[in-house]
Amino acid sequence: RAKQAGGQNYHYFTDELTRDAVSRFQMENQLRQALLHKEFYLEYQPRISLVDGSVRGVEALIRWQKPDGTRVSPAEFIPQLEEMGLITSVGEWVLHTACLQARSWQQAGLPEFKVSVNLSAKQFVQKDLCQIVDKCLAHAGLDSSFLELEVTESLMIEDLQTSVRMLQNLKNMGISLAIDDFGAGYSSLGYLKHLPVDTLKIDKGFVDDLATDVADAAIVQAVISMAHRMGLEVTAEGVEEPDQLDLLVSLGCEEVQGFYLARPMLPEILEDWLLKPKAYSKHLLPNGLC
Ligand code: C2E
Ligand code: MG
Ligand code: MG
Ligand code: MG
Repeated sequence: RAKQAGGQNYHYFTDELTRDAVSRFQMENQLRQALLHKEFYLEYQPRISLVDGSVRGVEALIRWQKPDGTRVSPAEFIPQLEEMGLITSVGEWVLHTACLQARSWQQAGLPEFKVSVNLSAKQFVQKDLCQIVDKCLAHAGLDSSFLELEVTESLMIEDLQTSVRMLQNLKNMGISLAIDDFGAGYSSLGYLKHLPVDTLKIDKGFVDDLATDVADAAIVQAVISMAHRMGLEVTAEGVEEPDQLDLLVSLGCEEVQGFYLARPMLPEILEDWLLKPKAYSKHLLPNGLC
């Protein structure tokens, strides 16, 4: 029966499925080990003000290095942790660690800046999220005005009323809120006016071809002007080239993040970086901004 081409296909597909299932199973086991053996750590990527060139904040980004030295991208393992029901505990660890790090930088006398933490959808629907956040801040001794939380828009659209209430509660605590990856995936502009957020982070997808694609430039320009009229600030993500930076300055974007300015760094590397002169400053000077 299995000698026809169809039969071969059948085997081909089952082999594929088995391989997928096996690799998922392996990854799940490895993630459980990672939690037990503390294989996660954080890097911090600076967010630079285009108003005065200062470091306005750093985004905490989770990293996973396996015992064999290989690294796995969070884009890969975060969804898996979500499915496994482990994202809330890992997410709490991220919050806790980022708050402690921010406080320790303040105590070391570094210029003050915020720390941003990404929240997954599963964390955002936790009933006790505010208490968890409060506990992390209190334990670190960090003032809430130095914490920013990043959430994605797809998460808001699912249950607007509950989302608005959660955001408002967090905002009432004095925490800043940002919409991450704005414009990517599902987008509805109408809901935006209901969200008590402070910042829109324009998705890297629009920044990539900003200097060469008129449509992308138009979108970025429109988002910046809409955000400003709504009293929101704009951060452009994924700035990799000086041309993009020049355009963002001229469009009135107030903040940028990207490899051209700084990569995500380990805390001690970031501390050294903060002391060094910055090559990107020259892009701010001609406009009298720096
Ligand atoms: P995100 O929150 O949008 O973070 C920005 C991502 O873009 C980071 O990738 C960062 O390293 C990368 N990036 C920044 N500038 C550039 C650039 O100029 N060029 C390029 N090519 N990439 C740039 P990363 O660290 O791999 O994280 C991917 C995503 O994983 C994050 O996207 C976020 O959604 C998620 N993530 C990371 N850490 C956490 C976490 O602690 N909790 C949760 N829930 N999600 C996290
Ligand atoms: Mg983010
Ligand atoms: Mg993003
Ligand atoms: Mg993202």
